[in-house]
Amino acid sequence: MSMRKKLTILLTVLALLYALTLTAFAAGPNGTLSVQLYSWNQHTYTPASAEVVKLTLNGDPLSGDVPAMIQGGRTLVPVRLVGEALQAQVLWVQQTGQVILTKGEDVIVLTLDSATAIVNGVSTPLPDGVPAQVVGYDGADRTMIPLRFVSETLGAQVEWDQATYTAHLTAELTETAPEAPEEEPETPSQEPEVPADAVRITGMSWSDGTLTIATDQAPNCKVTDLGDRVAIDFLDTVLSEDFTGCTASDTYLSDVRWAQHGADFYPGSDYTVRFVLDLAAGATAAGNLTITTTLTGVSVTTHGASETAPTVSINPQDYAIVIDPGHGGDRPGACYEGIMEKDIDLAVSLKLVSILQNQGFQVIMTRSTDVEIGLYERADLANAAGADVFVSLHSNAAENRPDYQGIYTYYHPSSNRGARLAQAIQTPLCQITGGLDRGIKDADFVVLRETDMCAVLVEMGFMTNHEELMNLTDDSYQQLLAQGIAQGIVDYLTAEAQANA
Ligand SMILES: [Zn+2]
Repeated sequence: MSMRKKLTILLTVLALLYALTLTAFAAGPNGTLSVQLYSWNQHTYTPASAEVVKLTLNGDPLSGDVPAMIQGGRTLVPVRLVGEALQAQVLWVQQTGQVILTKGEDVIVLTLDSATAIVNGVSTPLPDGVPAQVVGYDGADRTMIPLRFVSETLGAQVEWDQATYTAHLTAELTETAPEAPEEEPETPSQEPEVPADAVRITGMSWSDGTLTIATDQAPNCKVTDLGDRVAIDFLDTVLSEDFTGCTASDTYLSDVRWAQHGADFYPGSDYTVRFVLDLAAGATAAGNLTITTTLTGVSVTTHGASETAPTVSINPQDYAIVIDPGHGGDRPGACYEGIMEKDIDLAVSLKLVSILQNQGFQVIMTRSTDVEIGLYERADLANAAGADVFVSLHSNAAENRPDYQGIYTYYHPSSNRGARLAQAIQTPLCQITGGLDRGIKDADFVVLRETDMCAVLVEMGFMTNHEELMNLTDDSYQQLLAQGIAQGIVDYLTAEAQANA
């Protein structure tokens, strides 16, 4: 049985025990609920019990289809209910499992199952580490957020009444426009007027492997590679009244879809039109599509992988790379035969930094000496630097398997580009060093999850294997490790530049 599986079972048992305890000893005056706690990273549900909490807003009862509840000692509330009650804009980002609440100047980013929020760009621990999470109740899943943290960050006050298990919210709200008296004739349309300067999509066509989406002026587009599909978002854009669509499919493209979205879709864009291009089996956006934005729209051309656009060479000065040597200071990491992981990680990192700097990249290190640095601090530093790529270097250990050797590269499960970078590094790294290729793997490591940029973590070899440990401490092998990783970073950036060319 894997450690993860064992842990999952243990956690399930603990959760059940906790649920029983709640039911038996701590039932609040409003009763308890049977809920399912969803793990965003493991895609599993764990049954639990939660106490029902009543809510009021400026004295009036506030309720939705899923009640507020106490879980892990903190009051959780449905994000839509409280977001809307406090007049915050709520945006859900499926790819990253994030909820973004915006009110005036304040922006809170909550990541599912993460104990850290980002408040106005600053990483902030959540009280008691209770994260935003998906809770299943009565057949529906709801994203629940910590009430007090979010409310107070958005300028509301929360008072807790233990006797009635009620959270009283007090907030200064903007007066909503008074409703029109009933006797007045109904206005024909309640829809907000589209500003005259909005971009309009006037049509689309498909011929000979080229999809053309036409606009009446230069569009502002965001392209997102979603793996088996590509999203093209046209910001501040509406479909014109006489817009007619078309179908598009060939060997590389299986379908195209589009939809008009409002202000809650893309931050800062009141009207967004999203086109989704579904890729045919085996096709990739990077390998088989060329997307070009012009003054009069967007064109997407499909092609075989062999005919990819001409080689693009990158300008290293345009890229900032963060190199993160694992551990440090009082946290040595693994320790075998008197050798400490922190020292190997730093030695290879310094060699890697020197190669990258010689190539002209801007390189930032989370540590360049033997000091201790927190995992969240490492991510914060990379985020603050606005880096393009984050590479963390570690050395592995398998206490009971001294025969284990080889190299892994990890990426976060929510990141497609992370997976691409991981593979881009893993291949040359194993080739150049001759290390055993144990493949790329996804993992919910803090430094992968909390970094905004493309991030990977390389486990360069097993310290528990004597032969590999000797390699890891060998100066010329360390140089090969650094070369392999540097090669992978350059390959990845070149491929991305090519895909966007
Ligand atoms: Zn480590």
